[in-house]
Amino acid sequence: MSASIQHIKGMPDLLPEQTGLWQAVESIATGLLQSYGYNEIRLPIVEYTDLFKRSIGEVTDIVEKEMYTFRDRNEESLTLRPEGTAGCVRASLQHRLLDNQQQQRLWYKGPMFRYEKPQKGRQRQFHQLGVETFGIATADIDAELIVLAYRLWQRLGLQDHVALQINTIGSLEARNAFKTALVDYLTAFKDDLDEDSQRRLESNPLRILDSKSERTQSILENAPDLHDYLDEDAQAEFERLKGLLDAMSIPYTVNTRLVRGLDYYNKTVFEWVTDALGAQGTVCAGGRYDGLVSQLGGKPVPAVGFAMGLERLCLLIAEVTEPPADPQQLDIYFVIAADTAHYARAMTAAESIRHANPSVNMVTHCGGGSFKSQMKKADKSGAAFALIAGSNELEQGVVALKPLRGDKAQEQQNIAIEQLPEVIKQLFAA
Ligand code: ATP
Ligand code: MG
Repeated sequence: MSASIQHIKGMPDLLPEQTGLWQAVESIATGLLQSYGYNEIRLPIVEYTDLFKRSIGEVTDIVEKEMYTFRDRNEESLTLRPEGTAGCVRASLQHRLLDNQQQQRLWYKGPMFRYEKPQKGRQRQFHQLGVETFGIATADIDAELIVLAYRLWQRLGLQDHVALQINTIGSLEARNAFKTALVDYLTAFKDDLDEDSQRRLESNPLRILDSKSERTQSILENAPDLHDYLDEDAQAEFERLKGLLDAMSIPYTVNTRLVRGLDYYNKTVFEWVTDALGAQGTVCAGGRYDGLVSQLGGKPVPAVGFAMGLERLCLLIAEVTEPPADPQQLDIYFVIAADTAHYARAMTAAESIRHANPSVNMVTHCGGGSFKSQMKKADKSGAAFALIAGSNELEQGVVALKPLRGDKAQEQQNIAIEQLPEVIKQLFAA
């Protein structure tokens, strides 16, 4: 026997027992986005490699070592998207969504691909829900994005389990001045820095600030402070953002070490973190990136957005809170223990119920089998009720309704087939 084929490492399946939670989270999130006037954009999973090199930047973890890049049959270099912002900007430019100072509030969700070391909350194929806004330069939209995420945590019962960290990283010029000072300071300690940070000292020094090495962090304690280098505009916008968050009672801490490694980021950066998921604690991360649209060939357009990791979000829900109602939960299991002559009657009755009750989840038993074995399946299905159509019942023009759970589990009553759609409607009216 040949070995069976397994899924690729770090690219797991989501099984039926998990997809209920995912569907619930996704529908709560997308409903919320809709209610704030955000529109969905659906983007391809594969893009030209150059798009990511030009947007994310050559000297980043993602581009240096995490991308799935390959040549297609036409010898073009393509990449499985590692994140969604680049494609979203590319599409917005290509389809002129940003012309004439248009504002856009967009969201997308789907799989992203990064060649990382798989562990809990870190996969090679993972899923993000991303939100991007374009054409608004002021901190009110930064605040809206943050409050939007906060509403989502509330609806998912997570508001006490994630903490908001915010920072401003100023303009590119301010950051460059800071970068010089930081490199001057750190060069004196070069040999004591962790390996990644030593490398970054030349390639991407700001990223050293969020190094996970304790030794590096202790060296950083006396490093220059980015906030001493900030331009006035960034400072004023940051004060405005904090004021709006205060007014809306959204708790946050300012973390001056919070940076995003990419040059196109500026001003506001933020992360929602939890301590319930070990090292993979960032559930949602975002910031302002006023430089990206022009970097990708457009006129300058201010932009700010965030992306959340859906695996981490679902793990967190499972860890700390009661999961939302499972949309796949069965309501009814329709048992058909009838001979062939009566079978069509039973199946027609089931369809009349569905027609009148589109939101009731019902399985109609297929494949025959004894009454007893079907009832076993009904019990196991998790449905709240069984409808039982045996030959005897069908002969009398009725079907039996039997609660499967709670203290009424024994009581069973016959319902006339014509009444079924209405009775089921009443039953689930609440
Ligand atoms: P990390 O520091 O955890 O690697 P990141 O800075 O690379 O995160 P972003 O690019 O900001 O992550 O992506 C936004 C969010 O997507 C993260 O906060 C996280 O929730 C999720 N995410 C990123 N990479 C992965 C991954 N490999 N597996 C699962 N979720 C991920
Ligand atoms: Mg990463």
